[in-house]
Amino acid sequence: MSQQMLPNYVGRFAPSPSGPLHQGSLVAALGSWLDARHHQGTWLIRIEDLDTPRNQPGAESHILRSLEAHGLNWDDTVVRQSERLPLYEAAIHQLSHEALVFPCACSRREIEDQGGIYPGTCRSGLPFGKVGRALRVRCAETTLQFIDRGLGPQSEKLAEQTGDFILKRADGVYSYQLAVVVDDIQQGVTQIVRGADLLRSTARQLFLYSAFDQTPPQYLHLPLVMSSNGQKLSKQNRAPALDDQSPIQNLYSALCTLHGALKVSMKEAPKESIADLLRWAIQNWAIPLQGASPIIWDASQMEFSHDHRVPHSAPSFLNSA
Ligand code: GLU
Repeated sequence: MSQQMLPNYVGRFAPSPSGPLHQGSLVAALGSWLDARHHQGTWLIRIEDLDTPRNQPGAESHILRSLEAHGLNWDDTVVRQSERLPLYEAAIHQLSHEALVFPCACSRREIEDQGGIYPGTCRSGLPFGKVGRALRVRCAETTLQFIDRGLGPQSEKLAEQTGDFILKRADGVYSYQLAVVVDDIQQGVTQIVRGADLLRSTARQLFLYSAFDQTPPQYLHLPLVMSSNGQKLSKQNRAPALDDQSPIQNLYSALCTLHGALKVSMKEAPKESIADLLRWAIQNWAIPLQGASPIIWDASQMEFSHDHRVPHSAPSFLNSA
């Protein structure tokens, strides 16, 4: 048996209920499920429903039904961020005690007009006559570094490249960056496997882990599925919902996107049943945990190599994201 044991592995899939699952979100769900099952870990589902204006009625049950139809079973009860608001408020209190939180009166438009990176306008006090509506975290001038299990070494100068970021929006909604870190800490998540569209969020999240004095998880960012016009498949650009009547075809095609993570060719994949296909994929999942050399995705070749060198540029699937 080629499966690696990792007794404390806790992974998760954290969809937003802004629409049904599509082929791109299936890749993220499948990649994170396979990694957890390969390591005989726990796989949790968390519904990220804080951005209430974007929630769609019925999307949560649609997502859960699709996961079941594709054989992606989860452990433990499903949690919803909308039921955990006191946790986020307590986290903001904790950061406030350390003088890391400040109110901000700037609109998104004003920040865009100044180049898109928060220029620190309200950092040392609100400008005269302005009312603080959002809450931001005060970022340190450090370079945040991590080794992505798929992409290798990554780094970001947070203050320079992103700036102080939002913890609570002007409309009272807790930010994704805050909630995801609070939940991953509270749920004991050790491995985050998700789409590469979230790679740029990781530095902000690592900053919060250090502000909360917590050990961060390991990260693996997966290739994105692109539509024929070169856009990332997403609910916003109306990616079609998965057809739950064709799970084997959908899983097969998701595995083709992930096939750089498998140690054998997709030609060997059994196609008779969901259970056989998933069992085969669990056994052949080949992405090492951190500590081993990372896999450097090469989406143009759809192959991978174990490589100690630092990639000089983002792989092509990121450039086109
Ligand atoms: N809720 C996020 C999404 O649907 C995923 C968050 C994460 O995996 O960190 O894109």
